[in-house]
Amino acid sequence: MSGSALSIAEHHCRRCGTCCRWEGDVCLTQADVRAISAYLHMTEEDFINTYCRLQRNRQGLSLMDAVDGACCMLREDNTCTIQPVKPQQCRDFPQRWNFPGWEQRCPAARKGGATC
Ligand code: SF4
Ligand code: SF4
Repeated sequence: MSGSALSIAEHHCRRCGTCCRWEGDVCLTQADVRAISAYLHMTEEDFINTYCRLQRNRQGLSLMDAVDGACCMLREDNTCTIQPVKPQQCRDFPQRWNFPGWEQRCPAARKGGATC
């Protein structure tokens, strides 16, 4: 994964929720599972059974998809249900990981993107 340093330095998330609707996995580390289940006042087993599925490569857990394909933790107003403990993958985008062309899919990376 890579991206231009300039685009990342200028990145100001608009909380548009677009990246929470992208196809693919919202990967969970063991620390993510621990933190999110505690935040939701659930046992880790209940959290996994209720909100998790296998990653497409079957190498770990992902948050489930909603019916429309968005992350199951995305609310209608584009806020994240688990914002204070959202997975490392979510916290790291786009500064620590991204992919070719991400600037075209993330409104905040485009020229003139507003801060939020
Ligand atoms: S697509 Fe970009 S601007 Fe929109 S929520 Fe994701 S990081 Fe923020
Ligand atoms: S956990 Fe929150 S920030 Fe991460 S993809 Fe789901 S809704 Fe978006």
